[in-house]
Amino acid sequence: MIITLKSSVSNELAQSLAASIQAFLIIDEGKNVLITSSSVKELPESLAEFSEKYCVLANDMQLSSRHYKSTTRQVAIGNVVIGGETRNTVVIGGPCSVESEEQIRAASEVLKELGLKTLRGGCFKPRTSPYSFQGLGIEGLRLLRKMKVEFGHTIITEARDASHIDEIIEYTDVIQVGAKAMYDQGILRACSKTNKTVLIKRGFGTTLQEFVQAAEFVMSGGNLNVVLCERGIRTFETGTRFTLDLCGVAWLKEHCNLPVVLDPSHAMGYAYGVPSLTKACVAMGVDGLLIETHPNPKKALSDASQQLNFEEFKNLINEIKPLANCVGYSIV
Ligand code: PEP
Ligand code: MN
Repeated sequence: MIITLKSSVSNELAQSLAASIQAFLIIDEGKNVLITSSSVKELPESLAEFSEKYCVLANDMQLSSRHYKSTTRQVAIGNVVIGGETRNTVVIGGPCSVESEEQIRAASEVLKELGLKTLRGGCFKPRTSPYSFQGLGIEGLRLLRKMKVEFGHTIITEARDASHIDEIIEYTDVIQVGAKAMYDQGILRACSKTNKTVLIKRGFGTTLQEFVQAAEFVMSGGNLNVVLCERGIRTFETGTRFTLDLCGVAWLKEHCNLPVVLDPSHAMGYAYGVPSLTKACVAMGVDGLLIETHPNPKKALSDASQQLNFEEFKNLINEIKPLANCVGYSIV
């Protein structure tokens, strides 16, 4: 249950009311809001005189549910806003991993040329093998900061595990919680204590309900700036790396109030399929796209097979601009 307290209730009283019913207390749209387990179906009597309204939820998709808040939440990706009434599709571009200053600068330039502002590159990589490139770590974060200063780009990078979480939060504008890390409650709780935007990628064996509950960990801790990213789930099919769950995206748009970003690069796993898959995503009307691009994909130190070269990336962005307009969205 979510209980919105009357504005006459002081913050101190709100805290003691929360403690009295073991509820989370957060501020949503300027109001004190208590969140209990969704198994609570009746307003506790002790709360009746302080409650402005309350919302009974079917399950623990609560703050992220359209039943509680029917409109899509508005979330900032740097200077770009997605969700709400905006109908913006933000393109999050850049290489899988930050590999060198030259490489990340080249990607920054391409984004600038296309009028895009959001640069992504991994520094702490969640690789399947310990023998693969693990990322440049802090050195990579410093390179991303340099690009932010030089180009004014918004930076997004991923938190792989609990190590260096504070530095990642400090250096980046948007924290990416990867498909493997989205069950890590240490990361989710750390993200809940900042007000930076958090992009949570769906684990490849994660149900939609589990996915939104990862978001609830961040939101119930007080950070409502959450974006969901569908990046493909594992099915019986092995011809492609994963299967982009567009049905799941339709479900999220219907039931969940968080902006949704799609990642055709990781879903497909092969560059040849990324442009057509991206167009399918754009046609759905989405809040964002995550597309990997590298100056020389064959030489990439991670995800070499799926990254677009710069020419392919530029062509794709130019093709999707009018396509997005057709469905009432703008590529930003
Ligand atoms: C990535 O975004 O580079 C990445 C590792 O993605 P995922 O967590 O979706 O596998
Ligand atoms: Mn990648």
